[in-house]
Amino acid sequence: MSSLPMSRYTPLQSRAYAPAARPRRLVAGLLMGFGALLALGVFLVDTFTPLQSAVAVVYVVVVLLVAASGSRRAIVGAAAGCMVLTAVAYLRGHGWIAFDAAMMRCTVSLGAIAITAVLALRNRDRMITIAGQASLIELTHDSIFVRDMDDIIVLWNGGAEQLYGWTAHEALGRRANDLLGTAFPGDRKAADAELSGTGRWEGEVIQRHRDGRIVIVEARCALLRDEQGKPRVILEAGTDVTERRAAAAATAESERRYRSMFETARFSFWEEDYSRVMERVATLREEGVTDLAAYLEAHPEFVTEACELTCVTDVNEAAVRMLGARRREDLIGPLSRFLPASERTFAQVLLTIIQGGGIAEGETHLVNLRGERITVLFGLNMPLGPSRYDRVLVSVVDITDRKRAERALIAVQAELAQAARVTALGEMSASIAHEVNQPLAAIVTHGEAALRWLRRPEPDLGEACDAIERVVRDARRASEVVHRVRSLASKEPRQHVPFDLAALIEECAQLLDGEIALHRIVLRVDIARDAPTPRGDRVQLQQVVVNLMGNAIRAMSAVCGQRRLLVRARPEGANSLLVEVEDSGTGIPEHIAPHLFDAFVTTRGDGMGMGLAICRSTIESHGGRLWATNRPEGGATFHFTLPVTVAEELRA
Ligand code: ADP
Repeated sequence: MSSLPMSRYTPLQSRAYAPAARPRRLVAGLLMGFGALLALGVFLVDTFTPLQSAVAVVYVVVVLLVAASGSRRAIVGAAAGCMVLTAVAYLRGHGWIAFDAAMMRCTVSLGAIAITAVLALRNRDRMITIAGQASLIELTHDSIFVRDMDDIIVLWNGGAEQLYGWTAHEALGRRANDLLGTAFPGDRKAADAELSGTGRWEGEVIQRHRDGRIVIVEARCALLRDEQGKPRVILEAGTDVTERRAAAAATAESERRYRSMFETARFSFWEEDYSRVMERVATLREEGVTDLAAYLEAHPEFVTEACELTCVTDVNEAAVRMLGARRREDLIGPLSRFLPASERTFAQVLLTIIQGGGIAEGETHLVNLRGERITVLFGLNMPLGPSRYDRVLVSVVDITDRKRAERALIAVQAELAQAARVTALGEMSASIAHEVNQPLAAIVTHGEAALRWLRRPEPDLGEACDAIERVVRDARRASEVVHRVRSLASKEPRQHVPFDLAALIEECAQLLDGEIALHRIVLRVDIARDAPTPRGDRVQLQQVVVNLMGNAIRAMSAVCGQRRLLVRARPEGANSLLVEVEDSGTGIPEHIAPHLFDAFVTTRGDGMGMGLAICRSTIESHGGRLWATNRPEGGATFHFTLPVTVAEELRA
């Protein structure tokens, strides 16, 4: 811009530099036509009138007229033509070259035409340059306006029209400050002093739009001086940053609100950085790993490494209290410090992030700074794009006490249920004994009487028959008693409803998690995708699974090496589900194997030997089977089947 000859500036709308092409050609044509007529007139006067003056000098006007068309070729052509006409007129009037006054006049005319042509060409080039620069001003999206030293606007581009709403026609000639009411960030005088001292000033100003709205403008001002160094005009370029500032203010406000919620929440909040983990995942993908779920399953060491790469970057006060720290800085660092390697939940969280975000939540265990194991509920809102992996917000709630109470409740329930069954069994045996004893005693008496009648030297068959009939009658009575007791027992109300096996197993695992951790047992649950929904009494079946898992844990506590407990389920036939509890323990001792499910069979000093008997009666009362096998590689497997829910029940 500084190359613009500002001192000669007249108020202009820069778009006036580029009139439409058609009218421009029309004007050029008219000018050239008029020039040609004038040239012809001059030639006729010069050639056919006896005027002794330098008429040919008027050709200069022809050249100037043609120059106004702006065509280089036209200027050169007009100048050459005029010079030829001058020479022809001279030769025709004066014969061959003679050094007289006429020759002088001809030479002056030729020189004037040539000089005019050269000046016209130079002027044309300069005009093109100016027009180019002016169109650049139009091209820019920024607002550009120029004000003189009296603050009068002398140039106003399209960007300024857009930014301030005033057209060039309305703005030109008005005082910039009246129009825009510019407010400088600090002192206006300081800005003016800097502008006149250094020739430049940059900063954010608040200005007024035509409709009265406030606009925030990033302004860059330059002071332009003339050749003598006298200030002539100020060029002000501006970019509208109103929306950018509003967005920044909104972001700052939302960040402030987020921080205040983060700091004051009663729940514990953590910010975690997953960006290094995501880099590792990207490397895996580059190496050709496509099924990341399968990869995580097969490479538990990768999950451990990922946990170490995940960093806790900030926590709130509630988290400091929850983890028994003194300051929040004590908790900043790798997540693996708090998350035991045995936790399976981290792999699931990792998978959720890898698979593109969403919400991950669940229950897991953490180890606090005092080394205590706590049970927590967590929730992560995963970022949807890659941009925010460095700041993932995690909410954590300590539910250790609640879990403890729940566990105690379930344990008490289980004990009560077991005790009730044992009592019921005892009562039932007593009642069977009592009810059946009478008919049995009578049978014995009648039987002995029948024998006596038959052993007489003369057997009395009639009496013997009577006695035997009484035997049969009393035997029927005994059988009825047994039948009645049985039907009494089977009248227990049972609720056989569809239930979620995975959730049931998960609850059993939670119930036993203390023992699982104590004996460092690796628990795996494997439920086939096509496993149907089982049906039954959820409470009773939970006791069965807890019993079988508990027995497995006790059988493994005695062995060295890796301790693996697997609970799996798969369909068996069309109408039943097979559940298996497999361990790597001692296996079932051979001597008790044939009576394993009988009551009071135990090899444990403190055992009652009732667990498996009750399990079997529960499973059978559900219409299923329970049996056990030893594994060739060591350990035992308990198998049981359950009826499944038919589709209509599920729909209901
Ligand atoms: P208790 O646990 O009171 O002994 P149970 O009926 O539950 O009563 O178990 C009976 C016996 O069966 C146990 O004492 C043990 O010898 C054997 N047993 C049960 N489960 C297993 C197992 N998973 N591995 C080896 N032996 C087992």
